Amino acid sequence: MRLKREKEAIILAHNYQRPEIQDVADFVGDSLELSLRAAQVDAKVIVFCGVNFMAETAAILNPEKKVLIPDPNALCPMASMLPADLIKLYKRKYPGVKIVLYINTLAEAKAYCDAVCTSANAAEVVNNIDSEVVLFGPDVNLAKYAQMKSNKKIIPIPRGGFCPVHKLFKKDDIIRLKELYPDAKAMAHPECDPEVWEVSDFVSSTSKMHRESLTSKARKFIVATEIGLLHRMKKDRKDAIFIPAYEEAICVNMRLHTLEKVYLCLRDEKYEIKLPEKVVLRAREPIEFMLQMR
Ligand code: SF4
Repeated sequence: MRLKREKEAIILAHNYQRPEIQDVADFVGDSLELSLRAAQVDAKVIVFCGVNFMAETAAILNPEKKVLIPDPNALCPMASMLPADLIKLYKRKYPGVKIVLYINTLAEAKAYCDAVCTSANAAEVVNNIDSEVVLFGPDVNLAKYAQMKSNKKIIPIPRGGFCPVHKLFKKDDIIRLKELYPDAKAMAHPECDPEVWEVSDFVSSTSKMHRESLTSKARKFIVATEIGLLHRMKKDRKDAIFIPAYEEAICVNMRLHTLEKVYLCLRDEKYEIKLPEKVVLRAREPIEFMLQMR
């Protein structure tokens, strides 16, 4: 921690990080919470423990700071499903139609959209955008979830974008666990398939699941998201029991960061996120659209 002080650094960690990384982080949260924190952060260096699109967002919001990622191979497969070239193609196919992108996209893709959203505010962003038809990507399940809460017409791009981790959750597992723990509240992430939401009691982002676990009267929770979130929940609500809906729901990309890599990246100031200035300028606007809605 001396090193952190010397470098005037701050460590931000996503909810899906290894427990030991969450424990040394200055702030733990989901994409929205981390974006907000990145926008306010008072430090020279940000060590971002998350996948690359998250560190890119921090770099876009903090062009004067050094944003480092402990392992540069931490990529999100879902973000890679909607590259910038594909967005340009959709723009030609649907001229004039506004594009809302999930924050789980690369900076070069964000540079071509009108607004960015997270799983915590997808419907709110769609409802606030000046367009009755909205192209939305890359997660088809989040597009369906936003559609349920919006009167606008949402067209998912691409047709089959998904998170391989949230696809692991099955409706039957939730039903079985609910039978085993009848007094438990089942919580699911919108990236899960709709049939999983249908048998869950609460569907939302990891930040809202975490908040729900703090304020709910329930003392048992079945959690259908990456198992890293359970560490934060258990730490913050000691009188409750948290049951993973599927114990193998692990995002291998998030887990590439280790304590040793965090230390080395800070010590050597390596793996800095560097983006072309044009991309930073263009991607900043749709991110700020979302942040200004708060
Ligand atoms: S959990 Fe899914 S969406 Fe999140 S970083 Fe991993 S692969 Fe990407």
